[in-house]
Amino acid sequence: MTEKKKFVRIKCSDCENEQITFRHVSSKVECMVCGAPLAEPTGGYSEFNGEIVEELGVSEEGE
Ligand SMILES: [Zn+2]
Repeated sequence: MTEKKKFVRIKCSDCENEQITFRHVSSKVECMVCGAPLAEPTGGYSEFNGEIVEELGVSEEGE
């Protein structure tokens, strides 16, 4: 049984704001508070610029 982690809680390295975003982002995600880049898409995986505080899974099996 595979557990899917679809979201991450990421902490901004500039202002320490925590915000939840997709693990695989399709476009650049910026901090809602200070505007620093938090995540950006890179060839199928996301590059995170802040600290990942928590990974959030989903229980439903969609596929
Ligand atoms: Zn910030």
